[in-house]
Amino acid sequence: NTSDRVMADGSIVGLRVDISEFKQAQMAAEAANQAKSDFIGVLSHELRTPLTVILGHVRMARHVERMPPALALQDALDRHPEAAREIQPALDALHGQFGKTMATLERSGNNLLLLINEILDLAKIDAGGLSITLEEAEVGDIITPVAEQMRPLVEQKGLRFEVQSTQGRLRADVQRLQQVLVNLIGNAVKFTDSGNITLSVTGTDTALTFAVRDTGIGIPANELGKVFDPFHQVDSTARRRFGGTGLGLAISQDIVRAHGGELLVSSVEGEGSLFSLTLPREQDKNTPPAPAKPAL
Ligand code: ADP
Repeated sequence: NTSDRVMADGSIVGLRVDISEFKQAQMAAEAANQAKSDFIGVLSHELRTPLTVILGHVRMARHVERMPPALALQDALDRHPEAAREIQPALDALHGQFGKTMATLERSGNNLLLLINEILDLAKIDAGGLSITLEEAEVGDIITPVAEQMRPLVEQKGLRFEVQSTQGRLRADVQRLQQVLVNLIGNAVKFTDSGNITLSVTGTDTALTFAVRDTGIGIPANELGKVFDPFHQVDSTARRRFGGTGLGLAISQDIVRAHGGELLVSSVEGEGSLFSLTLPREQDKNTPPAPAKPAL
């Protein structure tokens, strides 16, 4: 009998129960999600702390020859040329081997730190998006450190690195925007075997466009929409060998969106790719706005 389920105000009791059950399930799912991303966040922090300590010591150890015991040893050898002739070659070999080991440790440690940072960023996105802190910045102050950081990587692979930039100011989270550019250039290097990589900033009166172009393997048309999905990698064994997590572009897209922009891609397989993002230009408060064009 449905009539006894109808309340005085016309609502139906059975339906109310259904909705509250649905709501409870939804709240439980949200709480579980929050707990998951909190846990990943805490774990990432806990992993980062010891790794940062390890990397600090590795970096210090790379300069072992400047440490007091090494200086004392060198001093003693300088005072005993006879002994030095016998010991120096073994000591040099030891230094060489030690240097190589430390370089490998530093490279692997840096990769691990990058991975942990990506997982931490993903947890933040999961929990409602990355937060950014906007500040006024000059384009040059954003791209010059990025270009300096990435140039050795580009040139080590025998690629030409071109940087073309207009001047201008914008409001941005400088570190996060640099993270996006480092990621785009890193990808460009990874997926390009010959040719060049271009980092450019072009502008209109109101906006600035940052772009990274490469002459690499490109992305098939049917994959273009998917490369921003977390964990997505264009599926082919040739690409899998490049490593990576498939998180970089998802994080970059979130950062650009938090700035009110959109990260876009265009690509031709076998010819290369272009990733670009457009952000509003910070208007110079001292310059009056350009007069409107007279109507014809
Ligand atoms: P990752 O590089 O760690 O795999 P990303 O999210 O940065 O993750 O990129 C996702 C995928 O998009 C890559 O695995 C690759 O298949 C494709 N991709 C990204 N950038 C380029 C590029 N410049 N050229 C060709 N393919 C690319």
